[in-house]
Amino acid sequence: MNGETKVYAVIGKPVRHSLSPVMHNALFKKYGINAVYVAFEVFPEQLRDAILGVRALGIAGLNVTMPHKEKIIEYLDKVSPDSKAISSVNTVINSNGELIGYTTDGTGARKALERFTNVEGSRVLILGAGGAGKAIAYELAKYSDVVVLNRTPEKARALEKFGIKGDALTMENLSYYIEWADILINATSVGMGKYESLVPKELLREGLVVMDIVYKPIKTKLLKDAEKAGCLTVDGLWMLVYQGAESFKLWTGIHPDVELMRRVALEGLRKGK
Ligand code: NAP
Repeated sequence: MNGETKVYAVIGKPVRHSLSPVMHNALFKKYGINAVYVAFEVFPEQLRDAILGVRALGIAGLNVTMPHKEKIIEYLDKVSPDSKAISSVNTVINSNGELIGYTTDGTGARKALERFTNVEGSRVLILGAGGAGKAIAYELAKYSDVVVLNRTPEKARALEKFGIKGDALTMENLSYYIEWADILINATSVGMGKYESLVPKELLREGLVVMDIVYKPIKTKLLKDAEKAGCLTVDGLWMLVYQGAESFKLWTGIHPDVELMRRVALEGLRKGK
């Protein structure tokens, strides 16, 4: 590090366990980029000041996580059409003082899926219409038929303006749409830190592709049940890696080594980062 070192950061609350610093620092090292990536814990009431700080200090780029993904939009100079559509930013580029917001959650999830299966023309059932569910549904609806089921049905129905069918997360709907779907995605927080799943294992069948965006634990109950049922499974760490890779590409123009990102993220997970 020297006087030329660029600073990138993730902002959120909580953020201390983020795997983004290990992934991006490994990439900066690999590509010989004089930059460092750190985590800043920012409380909601400090967000405006934090963005003024980004401008004043010339922070080169940001990742944005909970709870700031929507609120940050009002402090930026521009946002991408995708970010505008779903009111969510998870990546910021500082382009000579102009702060531009993007979202890579949806593309990250799509690229993670595309690593294992064909997305175009498929039928996708997404559980959850929170921040991540909405971003994934919006992105996949450009390529596939998408149905979103959510505990609070109004949030799923609000996605109908994107050509997405939204409904309540009931057992009746779940049974019906799992049979209809080629790909099932858990985009709720159910399964995070707990051995629980929204999907009864009897509903899982061979040939179904099952993705869980929860990555702590990396093998959730849903993924274990899906493996046993003969489904192809995609864990949430792949989405984390690909959304990070998309951010890195926006900052540097480099298509990064996703295997390296996954390796260091797995190490970070094991160390309890
Ligand atoms: P969020 O905006 O708070 O949304 C949470 C979602 O989970 C909502 O749809 C919520 O339904 C649903 N939910 C929570 N508890 C539920 C329950 N008991 N039964 C049914 N539905 C329930 O959170 P988010 O940002 O979308 O994140 C969701 C999860 O994805 C988190 O675990 C997060 O760590 C993970 N994530 C992973 C990645 C990745 O790269 N792998 C990226 C982003 C997020 P209601 O609307 O009814 O409350």
